[in-house]
Amino acid sequence: MLLDCGFGSFASYLDHAQASRLDAIVVSHAHGDHSADLDDFLSFAPAWRERPRVIVSYETLSAMTRQPSASDVEVIVVSDGSLVERSTFRVECSSTTHQLATLAVQVTMGGARVVYGADTGPGWRIPSPFLRPDVAILECTLENRDAASSPYHLDAHEVGALAQSLDALRTIVTHVPPHGNALARVDLARRAAPERDFLPAMTGQRIVVGPNFEPDHYR
Ligand SMILES: [Zn+2]
Repeated sequence: MLLDCGFGSFASYLDHAQASRLDAIVVSHAHGDHSADLDDFLSFAPAWRERPRVIVSYETLSAMTRQPSASDVEVIVVSDGSLVERSTFRVECSSTTHQLATLAVQVTMGGARVVYGADTGPGWRIPSPFLRPDVAILECTLENRDAASSPYHLDAHEVGALAQSLDALRTIVTHVPPHGNALARVDLARRAAPERDFLPAMTGQRIVVGPNFEPDHYR
């Protein structure tokens, strides 16, 4: 399951994960840093276990500047509260607070649950089935919120609070801007939620979820 496919994600897939076969791509919303490489994935047959498949809302599909053009694509249109079930995965959707229609998802695969908050401001209401995931992947665009900060993104303190509310076993901190400091954000999130476990997202990072959890070497 690929959660979003923004600028550079297809090259990153080729570099780090080409042996992985996809069941589906979730596109949370139409911003280019979450959706730009969709067509590259859909038209690259070796990436797919069965056939290209995208899970996306009607609003996102309509707002994307590049519509999927590859053939044989299964498009699964979802909205807030949707549940998609196939033999190998289950995806549940929940609207977040962002400039564009955006869906957070919970993915269940192989007995493990991963919650991906996509882009969201602090107002996202967590559905109760999302609680206590094995891993939460949360955006941390801001280090410390100030009066001029976007209400549509989280700062490190809010990531800590959200990880605490989610009761996530582990939280991967992502969506740090190119010149932002991921480790500083992780430190601040840990201070806000000292009993939670936070890891910075890293290119090429591999984390095994479930009973054989492999701690990340950047901790
Ligand atoms: Zn966005």
